[in-house]
Amino acid sequence: MISLPGAEPAHELACSRAGCGAAASWAIRWRNPKIHAADRRKHWLACDDHREYLVEFLRARSFPVEVLPASELEGAA
Ligand SMILES: [Zn+2]
Repeated sequence: MISLPGAEPAHELACSRAGCGAAASWAIRWRNPKIHAADRRKHWLACDDHREYLVEFLRARSFPVEVLPASELEGAA
């Protein structure tokens, strides 16, 4: 199970990067094919500074990754 220190459920739109907590403008939707069913999605939130960091973290593990504006995630919830 992948988990970043400080990553918490997205009840606030704050960056998921450990120690950041800045307002998140991006939602990163991802899935670990080894442990998640095909219709299961996890979400991380990212500020402008950490979007790329978090996406690369996931892509390095060959996980499917989608990036969308955080406002779209709110609307979908
Ligand atoms: Zn951040």
